[in-house]
Amino acid sequence: KLVRDDYRTVLLRYKVAEHRARHLAVKAKSASKAKSEFLANMSHEIRTPMNGVAGMLHLLLETELSPEQRHFAEMIHDSSNALLTLVNDILDYSKIEAGKLELENIPFHLGDLLTDIASQMTHKSNSTGMTSNLFLEPTVPLAVSGDPGRIRQVLMNLVSNAFKFTHQGSVDLHVLCTETEEKPLFVRFGVRDTGIGVPTEKQAAIFDSFSQVDASTTRKYGGTGLGLAICRDLVAMMGGTIGITSQEGQGSEFWFSIPLHQVPASQIPARTGHGTGLIALKVRPGTRILIVEDNVINQKVAQGILGKFGVHSDTVANGLEAIRMLEQFSYHLVLMDCMMPVMDGYEATRRIRSPDESHVLYPI
Ligand code: ADP
Repeated sequence: KLVRDDYRTVLLRYKVAEHRARHLAVKAKSASKAKSEFLANMSHEIRTPMNGVAGMLHLLLETELSPEQRHFAEMIHDSSNALLTLVNDILDYSKIEAGKLELENIPFHLGDLLTDIASQMTHKSNSTGMTSNLFLEPTVPLAVSGDPGRIRQVLMNLVSNAFKFTHQGSVDLHVLCTETEEKPLFVRFGVRDTGIGVPTEKQAAIFDSFSQVDASTTRKYGGTGLGLAICRDLVAMMGGTIGITSQEGQGSEFWFSIPLHQVPASQIPARTGHGTGLIALKVRPGTRILIVEDNVINQKVAQGILGKFGVHSDTVANGLEAIRMLEQFSYHLVLMDCMMPVMDGYEATRRIRSPDESHVLYPI
């Protein structure tokens, strides 16, 4: 009997401990999720004033400035771009952590994407006295479907790291098909540099978040150690793998391989612009745009930029005001912010799209 009682006590204690452990695990998980969501919200909020800073600078740089003023404004421009990259990294990372990042799957021209990247590489290598080349195997399909924005993001991250950690020599991009019989095809992208390299013992952890080769890297080169962690997660979400081959002092190859479905070239929409990443905006005279945005500086930025294209724009500060304007005037386009006081952009858009439900008519 004594043995049985002991056994029961132990079992009971075990159950209590197990229950507590489960409870703590759930608590820790939800705390971590709340933190990721907080980070995502914060970085999103930071982007609004950042957009104001970058936009206003863009407008300022187009005015007449003395050489000294231009120099200062350009320096602020560079810093604000660096800050925006950082905030975007944090936003992406927290979105991935919170399981809120979604990938696109659209037809696109891989050749165009690679040419854009290659021209940015040439630009960078020309200004640093290095060389750079794109090696594209003829077997690689050029009309494919996938997420071009995210593929570009991973490639640009690896390319800018390569330039950051290489002081002389070259940075090249090699693109090839790993196994030609497989469907979908696995395309391998390799960014090779002749830079400082990564010691063998550090290579395993290099794709972990906040990981840098050593503390002196942070002091010397800056950075957050988030770039490669985001690349790793994005590549995994695309069903691929990422890796590194490197020799300290000799250089590195950062590569990733992802499945890409080939599509008929006719499915790809014609390209606008000239590979600069900017949208070519062709505006007919008399175009009217309604800007719905609660941030006063961003209202001015949008109006200033549209004004340069010769567009007439009106501005309101929330969804309800937008609906009131649309009841009175007609617009070719409405640029709608999402989060706004009184009525947000989602609700306003819903009402604009189905006027019957909201009992208003719109002369669009
Ligand atoms: P960050 O560059 O912002 O610190 P990353 O995640 O992009 O963050 O890179 C993490 C670390 O990996 C870098 O700090 C650097 O130590 C190392 N690293 C990345 N790319 C290279 C490269 N091409 N050559 C040498 N080291 C690299």
